Amino acid sequence: MYKHDNFYINGRWTAPSTQKTIDVINASTEEVMGRIPEGSEQDAEVAVAAAKAAFDGWSNTPPAVRGDFLKKIQEGLKARSEELAKMIAGEVGMPLKLSSMIQVGSPIANFGYYAKLAKDFQWEETVGNSRIVREPVGVVVCITPWNYPLHQIAAKVAAALAAGCTVVLKPSEVAPLNAFVLAETIDAAGLPPGVFNLVTGYGPVIGEALVRHPDVDMISFTGSTRAGRRISEVAAATIKRVALELGGKSASVILEDADLAAAVKGTVNACFMNSGQTCSAHTRMLVPESKYKEAAAIAAETAKSFTIGDPFGGSAKLGPLISDAQRDRVRAFIRKGIEEGAELLCGGADAPEGLDKGYFVKPTVLGRVAPGSTLDQEEVFGPVLSIITYKDEADAVRIANGTAYGLAGAVWAGSDERAQEIARRLRTGQVDINGGAFNLFAPFGGYKQSGHGREMGTYGMAEFLEYKAMQFKPAKVA
Ligand code: NAD
Repeated sequence: MYKHDNFYINGRWTAPSTQKTIDVINASTEEVMGRIPEGSEQDAEVAVAAAKAAFDGWSNTPPAVRGDFLKKIQEGLKARSEELAKMIAGEVGMPLKLSSMIQVGSPIANFGYYAKLAKDFQWEETVGNSRIVREPVGVVVCITPWNYPLHQIAAKVAAALAAGCTVVLKPSEVAPLNAFVLAETIDAAGLPPGVFNLVTGYGPVIGEALVRHPDVDMISFTGSTRAGRRISEVAAATIKRVALELGGKSASVILEDADLAAAVKGTVNACFMNSGQTCSAHTRMLVPESKYKEAAAIAAETAKSFTIGDPFGGSAKLGPLISDAQRDRVRAFIRKGIEEGAELLCGGADAPEGLDKGYFVKPTVLGRVAPGSTLDQEEVFGPVLSIITYKDEADAVRIANGTAYGLAGAVWAGSDERAQEIARRLRTGQVDINGGAFNLFAPFGGYKQSGHGREMGTYGMAEFLEYKAMQFKPAKVA
């Protein structure tokens, strides 16, 4: 049982303004595994004041020194990586081996990347008679979701700190325990007081208080489109900068000449990762009508190989979903898909056998999902793949682009060149070509209602920077 009574504010563990707490539930045992404070508007005030007071000092700290601090944080996380992997496997339900590789490996890599980038980045340049200087945007509030909790935190916090911003982090109340480990690590690294602050609680309460606050310069948010919309509205009153990473309904487009078995297997893997609770999951598989039967058979076969079970058990490829509400929501989507005419090829809405605890959903494949239907349009966030057939390439592109989202996707074809031609026509922030691997340092973010702004790599740090142009009489330009 992980019990936290305090927030991390101004370099100290600080008592919250109220006694209210939130229980953290283990996704596979349904038992309480931790307890955190439920923050109020007053706690938001104190955290923002600390971040504001620290800004002058941190923004004027040489980038290379900021980089040294980030390196220390990276080393601190590395030293606690085993503990973190177990903690996140408990909070989120991702099988331990994957949790260790992805949920912990990626934040460690990000802190290392931004440690180096702070040193290597070109902070200034000359354009004509102007000196152009990149400066931190100010106090940044990071609000994050539960599905890749520490990865999403690191993508924001490491980049913002490297940029010279000070930070208030409000992690998901559903998987917040890892954020406390990060705060402990930052404390041990000796970051100056107020540069990083951690508060916890519910989005509409402490989250909105932070978004509303006039001393906050930017909100970096990852989460649902619904919350992103609300955050944009609230932030508009003070014209603060907002970066949004929201939902997705990404298509994997399989062309006639693709290696069908590799393409279908690759798509199922990209759909079921983290029990389908991945914003960039390839949840719609688009196949030519002539290939439907074969593709459906391979997809069902592949889905069956996703053994469900205890994330700590060793043999499970698919853990539980995050909560009972999420499990019920996903099962309702499966029923809705069948009602609207889809073929159930594998899995289904009923409870998996032999698992009486944990929020499990069977790996499910729905065939002949109609363009425009609920399963084609709405984010499910569970292990559910929809197969959609298309007539020709123009039809495939139209279906792929035919949702409100535009986060990710894939194209599989006989050659990378042909796949790339289609990829260029997709209105989406990322496209994997013939099984191309996720690149932690490529820009990540959405078109359309998947949000705006980019994370990761140099692009991610640039989100937290302003431009300043100073004009000189030509003779004085350096
Ligand atoms: P959520 O929107 O419910 O919560 C995300 C965070 O926002 C939490 O910390 C929550 O407390 C806070 N929040 C909620 N309402 C708020 C409000 N009114 N004001 C301020 N803060 C508020 O999302 P979730 O259920 O945690 O995560 C799942 C969603 O996140 C999915 O839709 C998924 O697609 C999306 N997601 C997107 C990306 C991406 O990079 N594009 C990555 C992961 C998850």
